[in-house]
Amino acid sequence: MLILCTNDDGYMAPGLEVLVEAARTLGEVHVVAPDREQSATSHSLTMHLPLRARRVREGWHSVTGTPTDCVMLGTQAILPRRPDVVLSGVNHGMNMGEDVLYSGTVSAAMEATIFGIPAVAISYAGRADDAHLASYAPLLARLLPQLVKRGDFPPETLLNVNLPAIPAERVQGVRVTRLGRRVFTDSLTQGTDPSGKPYYWIGGGSIEWASHEGTDYHAVDAGYVSVTPLHLDLTNHSLLRSVAEWELSA
Ligand code: MN
Repeated sequence: MLILCTNDDGYMAPGLEVLVEAARTLGEVHVVAPDREQSATSHSLTMHLPLRARRVREGWHSVTGTPTDCVMLGTQAILPRRPDVVLSGVNHGMNMGEDVLYSGTVSAAMEATIFGIPAVAISYAGRADDAHLASYAPLLARLLPQLVKRGDFPPETLLNVNLPAIPAERVQGVRVTRLGRRVFTDSLTQGTDPSGKPYYWIGGGSIEWASHEGTDYHAVDAGYVSVTPLHLDLTNHSLLRSVAEWELSA
């Protein structure tokens, strides 16, 4: 099995090392990852600048672009052939609920899904410098084959995995979940810079979750690994009929 590993934290991120170590149990691993942090770049594609790939070590390339760019270059140019699976992560920080709409980690997996390649995004719900993250390599080595070796990997679907911020040895198990819902409070910080001009900083404030049973957050909060199947189709199918009844006209 040929595996492409990428992330949005950059090729030097410790989480990527954990992923690669685990992915080796599946087959031949290649890394194509951004040359710097690209968190929260979502599904952006670099279209107005040339991209450069640099071989940083055997089987590893860094790219001057986004996670989506990395999947494009990896699958179409850098790897010896089309990979059998794309793994993205392990992201430093959770990607649950609405996070999946902002996340470069999830978008990289989404890009592979668009190409018809089975893909899994993996995120760790702790901080970047948290020592527990390294303990997850053996757990992922056991879990990943269960997720990607199935012959019936569903079309247009990716799997979004979140790991709880506890040592892997204390994980309670795996739960299949739906996306939770964030309650953002004061996520925009305003201040005044040293020259007296106002500035704005996105991402401040506290984050709370509506902790409903069955959601990704509820599972991770209880010490479980969360696995959420995500579909590429954002259409609200249940509303097609009633919106049609609005009788919109041009
Ligand atoms: Mn990230």
